[in-house]
Amino acid sequence: MSTSEQDQRHIWHPFCQEQTAPASLPVARASGASLFLEDGREILDLASSWWVNVHGHCHPAIAEALSRQARTLEHVIFAGFTHAPAASLAEALVHALPRSKETDKGLDRVFYSDNGSTAVEAALKMAFQSWRNQGERRRTLFLAFEGAYHGDTFGAMSVGRSSGFYAPFEDVLLKVRFTPFAETWLDDADVEQREAAALAGLDAILERDGRRLAGFIAEPLVQGASGMRMCRPQFLRAVCERVAAQGIPVILDEVMTGFGRTGTLFAMEQAGVAPDLVCLSKGLTGGFLPLAATVATTAIYETFLGQDFSTAFAHGHSYTANPLGCAAALASLALFETEQTLARIAAIRQANLRWLDEAASLPGVARPRALGSIAAINLGGEGDYHSSLGPKLKARFLELGLLVRPLGNVVYLMPPACITPDELARAHALTLQVLHETAPLYSPPLTATRHKAPR
Ligand SMILES: *Cc1c(COP(=O)(O)O)cnc(C)c1O
Repeated sequence: MSTSEQDQRHIWHPFCQEQTAPASLPVARASGASLFLEDGREILDLASSWWVNVHGHCHPAIAEALSRQARTLEHVIFAGFTHAPAASLAEALVHALPRSKETDKGLDRVFYSDNGSTAVEAALKMAFQSWRNQGERRRTLFLAFEGAYHGDTFGAMSVGRSSGFYAPFEDVLLKVRFTPFAETWLDDADVEQREAAALAGLDAILERDGRRLAGFIAEPLVQGASGMRMCRPQFLRAVCERVAAQGIPVILDEVMTGFGRTGTLFAMEQAGVAPDLVCLSKGLTGGFLPLAATVATTAIYETFLGQDFSTAFAHGHSYTANPLGCAAALASLALFETEQTLARIAAIRQANLRWLDEAASLPGVARPRALGSIAAINLGGEGDYHSSLGPKLKARFLELGLLVRPLGNVVYLMPPACITPDELARAHALTLQVLHETAPLYSPPLTATRHKAPR
């Protein structure tokens, strides 16, 4: 039986309406920025394989590190045992993460898990239990941005509820307050007004519920799943400062933005904020293996210390700190030096800015924006994940050999750092061609009443 036949008989794919989705494409192998299908076609991966790939597919340095580790220690229970790859990686992460200059507050304690959602669950639980451990029982609410996405487990769904994906679960989610996100784009004249309004919204929430909030969680600088919505670093900083001033722990979810995606190793560096907890996954292993970390300040960590188990963090996953994942992560971090990954990403941004310039001159194309290796546009107006444009565009991109996965009417490019200038030029030319072809579908711009941002 072929891969496709077996797949269609037995597999349930993620984020898919299986009844109407086109058949999944069997990938035989991958290299650099390219996927090679079983039928021989080559597809340029402009989505970094769901935002995980950093240096390119099957990078030999990571493959080699993995293979060596697999023949040395593949896995071991991480309660009561430790190992060199986990210890070295924890040290590397703590040193790579920014440290507050004013307070010398750093992220010093690495708690491992195995995917972005669990990194978020662990962070929410840490923030929550930390209050309980200190005898504070009134703080039962979380604060998150409107439009945030933090993963698909229950806690993560709760703080990402306004992404609009979780309507069936509405009745069983945690209690969360949502504060406005001041989206911005290139040549945005009204950003300051929008930020002031958003901060006023936040002030009202803090005034009313500040003493009941257990923690605030945010995707720094870019909201990924809700449409690559970007904000200015000073806005994020202003929000975090207001929240921190009330003693509420700040959790930054760098699951998507981490490891160079926004042009710095971590997005929070650009905003100069000092969070209490940080969530890492996706690019952590360069895109090779599932691994995640929730990194906490010493202050948070110390609230869990005590003589008996009741204040301990009773949370752990079977594959916690898997040595293969840690070895891949160490090899991936080393590549940032040897391959000058951040410089490559800066060059991608420059090329993307020229693409955005051309794209934005087309009718119906709105809100061009770029940060690090991410570039995005909206077709027709406000972002709308449920727009029927997405699947149509995706199919056309694939015909032309491009993996571009629009978020509804938001088209974005997020190539791995290894993409060559020629490959990127091809991607830019072909995507512009598709925008020309499909312009009648979204231009003239759809009216605001038909297009609402996801909530
Ligand atoms: C993808 C993502 C997650 C969830 O990560 P998974 O590994 O898919 O569970 C959490 N937060 C953000 C910001 C993400 O982009």
